[in-house]
Amino acid sequence: MLKIDSHTHILPKKMPNWSEKFGYGDFIYLQHHKKGFAKMMRGNQFFREIKENAWNAELRIKEYAKFETQVQVVCTIPVMFSYWAKPLDCLSLSQFLNDHIAKLVDKYPQHYIGLGTVPMQDAELAVTELERLKKIGIKGIQIGSNINDENLNEERFYPVFQACEKLGLAVLVHPWNMMGEKKMQRYWLPWLVGMPAETSRAVCSMIFGGIFEKLPKLRVMFAHAGGSFLPTIGRIAHGFECRPDLVAIDNAIDPRHYLGKFWVDSVTHDPMMLEYVLKLQGSNRVMLGSDYPFPLGDLEIGRFIEDMALTKQIKEDIFHLSALEWLDSKKEDYTDQKK
Ligand SMILES: [Zn+2]
Repeated sequence: MLKIDSHTHILPKKMPNWSEKFGYGDFIYLQHHKKGFAKMMRGNQFFREIKENAWNAELRIKEYAKFETQVQVVCTIPVMFSYWAKPLDCLSLSQFLNDHIAKLVDKYPQHYIGLGTVPMQDAELAVTELERLKKIGIKGIQIGSNINDENLNEERFYPVFQACEKLGLAVLVHPWNMMGEKKMQRYWLPWLVGMPAETSRAVCSMIFGGIFEKLPKLRVMFAHAGGSFLPTIGRIAHGFECRPDLVAIDNAIDPRHYLGKFWVDSVTHDPMMLEYVLKLQGSNRVMLGSDYPFPLGDLEIGRFIEDMALTKQIKEDIFHLSALEWLDSKKEDYTDQKK
């Protein structure tokens, strides 16, 4: 069965030292300190060590073959967004990353589907890059759950969503820049608590801000099975009912109406939770995802889903049909039948 992993991250092996190039800021750069490993440095601060599978396209294809997964949807690592930078510098950095992904997709069209990144701090520039992305074969964009702490329903971001709908580009909303991060450094809480909350913040902002009402054809996926949104939908819907004066001020439609309207990935690490997600979303809005190559991902790609007692139809939805719809792609493009 064709399997498409809808949520993976990749970087170019070599990137410019943007802090030196632009003369300010703690941009990320890579230090290849030993074979097969690199340190991601934020300014002079160590951010995270990554392995060769974060940049080596062929190694990734081999690792994926172990899990009989042929296709990876690739996007950058959220820390690269650089929404805090000067807009033109962020555009230049985004274009570098986007061109790398476009080249990868050109070289391995049956193994990689690309998502770009755009300077969300400047919607006008972001839209020009969206138009370019469309031309170079990129299927969508990844954006943060907030943009410099502003929610996604802010009017200034609307032209980006509008352009995505018009151009038919998919949107992946990924948690980052986690709320409360500074107050909860211990126990990896920004990742364990902050990230699911961030994603719910993004879903709620887009629903309550009426984005899905204004742009019904916009195809949005929320990472990590929508974070804490689906597990707390009861509370959110009840809040909408009991305090419409606070919640329903920009959109009078019940948040439950949007279940199954957007996509989520399967990154739950928990079959019971995935069953619940499938119930709420319908299997045609749930996609195989891994968050590869990071340790908090489901790195045994799709294995727990294989082990679940799901029908063939549901597995086909999760493993490729949902993703193909989200990306507006055809199955034939990723199988040998046509090529
Ligand atoms: Zn991720």
